[in-house]
Amino acid sequence: MEQESNEVYEVVVVGAGISGLATAVALTRLGISNIIVLEKSDGLRSTGTAITLLPNAWCVLDALGVAHKLTDLYDPYDKWHIINIEDGNKRTFTTSGTSLRRKIKVRVVHRKALLEALATELPYGIIRFSSQLISIKSESIKDLEGLNYLLLEDGTTIKTKAVIGCDGVHSRVAQWLGLPKPISSGRSAIRALAVFPDGHGFPNEYRTYLDNKGIKVGFVPLNKTELYWYVIHKTSTADSQDPDQILQEVIENMQARNFPDDVLTVVKHSDPSSVTRAPLLLRTPWDILFCRAHCWNVTVAGDALHPMTPDMAQGGCTSLEDAVVLARNVFSGTEISESGFARYLRERQRRTACLTGSAYLAGWTPQDNRPILNWFMGLFIQKIFNRLVFPRIRRYAICYDCGDLPTVMQKKSV
Ligand SMILES: Cc1cc2nc3c(=O)[nH]c(=O)nc-3n(C[C@H](O)[C@H](O)[C@H](O)COP(=O)(O)OP(=O)(O)OC[C@H]3O[C@@H](n4cnc5c(N)ncnc54)[C@H](O)[C@@H]3O)c2cc1C
Repeated sequence: MEQESNEVYEVVVVGAGISGLATAVALTRLGISNIIVLEKSDGLRSTGTAITLLPNAWCVLDALGVAHKLTDLYDPYDKWHIINIEDGNKRTFTTSGTSLRRKIKVRVVHRKALLEALATELPYGIIRFSSQLISIKSESIKDLEGLNYLLLEDGTTIKTKAVIGCDGVHSRVAQWLGLPKPISSGRSAIRALAVFPDGHGFPNEYRTYLDNKGIKVGFVPLNKTELYWYVIHKTSTADSQDPDQILQEVIENMQARNFPDDVLTVVKHSDPSSVTRAPLLLRTPWDILFCRAHCWNVTVAGDALHPMTPDMAQGGCTSLEDAVVLARNVFSGTEISESGFARYLRERQRRTACLTGSAYLAGWTPQDNRPILNWFMGLFIQKIFNRLVFPRIRRYAICYDCGDLPTVMQKKSV
């Protein structure tokens, strides 16, 4: 049964993932205290094991005052090797963001550690677990007090001045705003943690192996005993979700395709409880660029706005950027700025549309039954995109510094 609650918030953030927590931290740094974060799960969700944080993400974490919590725990790595196992071609990238105001190194961190680093910056009780947003009541737009009414799964309705949908790729807030649905990239990712209790002995470098049939396998140490690994492959209707079957399938495929022994060793040390498989979705660059992603004081951030394939490791990094840019444009005055939403989106839509398109091309794989398209795309990607475009876009991605948040000022509560 629907029950209207008397609670009125200045801001409700929907989703306690990377984007939602970073947004909440940015807002509390600006002195906004009347805020809650709704999370449908009963705790922080860290599906996917680990995440690569490139220099642009570290600038955000620095601006939010949480970077030190992670840099103390994780060693940086400086080299990323991409090796084609069919022709032996090897490309090596240096991972530091050299044109940033300081040289920042890349680190891969446990997702759980990142979420906890952000969550522990928030006052107790701000995150409300087991609270799923079902809908935003459209009639609330006409409310003379300018409040939005949010309906939760348990039947409660809460009122708020602003809603930031950080509820991921299947965002309810994005649906309410009328954003086009994300599409399938035709690929899926398997991710897991490999554990070597006596030490793995691998150098602190990122390695990605590719074949010409669209399989990509990568691994990187997280510390002396744990490595994060992933496989990206074409999606099939027969894809199992059972961790033991997934592991067996990966091992058999790697043996059949002659992937190097070191990858097999890593996969064989997997913790089965960490193994997951998910389809890779994206919103097309033109949908990101031209969608109207705010209405009244409601908007979206993170994957809810710009889901992208992980081929440039930018989904989470750009979700972090959104938090600071949103807070600065919309919430740094004494009142919530409606024109600030438009400024926030202008800034974010251009950048994330470009990165989403580039990530898709960087991970493009030949399509079945389309030989002419495959030939043309293969040529374009090898001769033009990989050589001329990708290095520039990568610099554009990682050498972005979101800047600082404005100094704290006293905010009015509703
Ligand atoms: C295989 C793979 C590898 C990746 N690797 C990288 C990488 O190395 N580097 C990088 O930067 N990015 C990477 N990404 C992308 C990154 O994981 C995402 O961009 C990032 O997690 C997005 O964060 P988010 O908070 O927007 O969404 P999510 O992480 O999906 O969080 C959304 C949260 O909202 C909650 N929620 C959803 N609906 C509701 C609702 N109705 N009510 C309340 N709560 C709700 C969910 O439970 C969840 O906690 C990768 C992605 C994949 C798939």
